[in-house]
Amino acid sequence: MLKDTSKHQGLRNKLVTQLEEKGITDKNVLEAIRNIPRHQFLESSFEDFAYQDKAFPIAAGQTISQPYTVAFQSQLLEVKKGDKILEIGTGSGYQCAVLCLMGAQVFSIERQNELFKKTSLLLPKMGIRPKKLIFGDGYKGLETEAPFDSIIVTAGAPFIPQPLMAQLKIGGKLVIPLGEEHQIMTMLVRKNETQFEKHEYGEFRFVPLLENKN
Ligand code: SAH
Repeated sequence: MLKDTSKHQGLRNKLVTQLEEKGITDKNVLEAIRNIPRHQFLESSFEDFAYQDKAFPIAAGQTISQPYTVAFQSQLLEVKKGDKILEIGTGSGYQCAVLCLMGAQVFSIERQNELFKKTSLLLPKMGIRPKKLIFGDGYKGLETEAPFDSIIVTAGAPFIPQPLMAQLKIGGKLVIPLGEEHQIMTMLVRKNETQFEKHEYGEFRFVPLLENKN
């Protein structure tokens, strides 16, 4: 049963205040987080903790990202209504839901079939409608729908997959946590056909972006 109570709403308001204190200023990001019942993305045993600013285990040995991380990456994208966004690593669907509520057209790829199926059922039940959820390998991006306004990678990548750079619009942003043990949040902004501007935003921790292991 999907229920959302005033207690949950109260906890979400507190979480939003914490995110503001940690430096999140994008009102659209904060409103999305205020409105999305994160507890519904977790197993019921974690329900009581859903509004702590922490990552938690989901199925298939993966994690739902920490709300601060979701907010930070979403803020970097400077989402405008109608933006076409590709997410690599659907996982629980929480990050995808945040982008949908911000008005983006979201395409999201997941390589764990169990998570792909689970999230494909959950999001419509919650009234959240990404453009498309795809079961596949995010290293390849999504050629058929390219180019994208933004691409967001939500697993730690050992390097920047070339197809993701190629599938960005001019002016588009690729936000990707880069590194093995821990990751440096990195943003590439596409300047023209061949040039990208690189920005770095400090250390984060993600589960790995896996290659060739379907
Ligand atoms: N955005 C998710 C975060 C999930 S953790 C959320 O909000 O819950 C990262 C996810 O990336 C995991 O579900 C993992 O299975 C997935 N992943 C890892 N390597 C991948 C790849 N090569 N292609 C697509 N998804 C991948």
